[in-house]
Amino acid sequence: MRIANHDNRAVLVTSDDAGIDIHDASGGKFGPDVASVYAHWKEFSAWAATASGDSSVALDRSKLGAPSPEPEQIFAIGLNYQAHQKEAGYKVTTELPPVFTKWRSSLSGPDTEVVLPHNGNVDWECELVVVIGQGGRNIKPEDAWKHVAGVTIGQDFSERIRQQFGQAPQYSLGKSFAGFAPTGPWIVSPDEFADPNSIRLGSDIDGQPQQNGTTADMICPVPQLIEFLSKIVEFRPGDLIFTGTPAGVGMGQDPKRFLKPGENLRSWIEGIGEIHSTFRAGKPEESGVPIAS
Ligand code: ZN
Repeated sequence: MRIANHDNRAVLVTSDDAGIDIHDASGGKFGPDVASVYAHWKEFSAWAATASGDSSVALDRSKLGAPSPEPEQIFAIGLNYQAHQKEAGYKVTTELPPVFTKWRSSLSGPDTEVVLPHNGNVDWECELVVVIGQGGRNIKPEDAWKHVAGVTIGQDFSERIRQQFGQAPQYSLGKSFAGFAPTGPWIVSPDEFADPNSIRLGSDIDGQPQQNGTTADMICPVPQLIEFLSKIVEFRPGDLIFTGTPAGVGMGQDPKRFLKPGENLRSWIEGIGEIHSTFRAGKPEESGVPIAS
């Protein structure tokens, strides 16, 4: 099952360019907005399994928004792949990874122009993003995928100067500028994957491959992430987990390279699709990197 946020309405995606309007097809029981679908996930998924092709809509990709546009919480996982730990200059370890947030105001849909903060070094991180259906605490790893509505593609754009400035890192700030969390194009339910713990993902810039990894290499795979986090926090319907990035980011290259105005970044995940980001230079007054001297 695939669900998109199309023109602010929840749509069951049936092909790359068509879907079923969930509100109309369910006689008003679910939707019209996608957040309300996650809020009634159990009943919705039972209905969706039998939904028919009435109330079909043509999908216009330019109208796709974030598939979960109003999550109560966004969790993001750092250093969840050993090859990325190494390229980022950290000790290679199997310890539980660091957790931060990307504030909700940084969320956007799949295909966007991102303003590069003035004087910043913006890096790319293609990530599998988990969307929670049914929330809860103390979720066991063997039950974890049942709590997931679906997975989608995310970019964890990271301004490395703000992120690493000072004696304690500022991951959340450096990763929450406007447009720094594009997601989409839709969510794909875990049962659509041969193995939801082994999915290929990557990115390229102007056609040049940068990242190509597999979620099978995660230090803390999705079921263990959900177990670990839910011992502390309560998951809520629609919550997002950015699960970490494989190797191939700009700061790991020699010399380091960051995103430039006019470049085209494609982020892809097997079995989901791709999202696209273009870049424009930010003016000092709209998006600087505020660092006290
Ligand atoms: Zn990341």
